[in-house]
Amino acid sequence: MTGYYDLNLMPHVVTVRCPNCARAARFEFAEIVKIERKQDIAFFRHSDQFDYRVFNGSQGQNWHAAIYYPGLNGITLGAIEGLPKGYAPEDWAHDSVWSPSMVGQDIGSIVCHHCDLRKKTELSWPEDAYFQIAYKGKVLWAFNEDSAISLLDFIESEDRQRNKHKYQLFLRHIPSHFLHKHARGPVVKKLAKALENCGAGLPVENA
Ligand SMILES: [Zn+2]
Repeated sequence: MTGYYDLNLMPHVVTVRCPNCARAARFEFAEIVKIERKQDIAFFRHSDQFDYRVFNGSQGQNWHAAIYYPGLNGITLGAIEGLPKGYAPEDWAHDSVWSPSMVGQDIGSIVCHHCDLRKKTELSWPEDAYFQIAYKGKVLWAFNEDSAISLLDFIESEDRQRNKHKYQLFLRHIPSHFLHKHARGPVVKKLAKALENCGAGLPVENA
């Protein structure tokens, strides 16, 4: 269970370990839109709502991007004005089509309410996951509090029915290592501790 086993499963917001205080922080993916016309570059370059960046495509060609950080911006997307013709604020909405092949897909923002950290960052997943527990040399992780609760309920249950859970796709990817009879007790205990620590605003190291 390492890396992005399926990017389509990544929620737009995940819980990460704060690099400053190790407590639970919120990471939210940025939305990246390709700037098609050269004459539009200036707008995004000078905008205080967007970051402008040049990415290197898989074929070696450069492409220009307008990046929006919903987790950092004070104003809502709908309030963005003056976009060049052909763009709409909704282009940067989270429900737009996610392209996993895009370079820079790990860009986003981190906000920690414990130490007031608030910045742009790149996600390393699952290394940055707040909810990660070790069991016999392997690491089990969850995206956020909700999916950690699902994971705990699922592993603890006798029937192990994935379709009862909101995160059933995620649950389908749990390595059998964590599903053995002997793993149930220790894994449930560690997950419960991680959830308890998160709720209490404690560093994950105590998990
Ligand atoms: Zn922090």
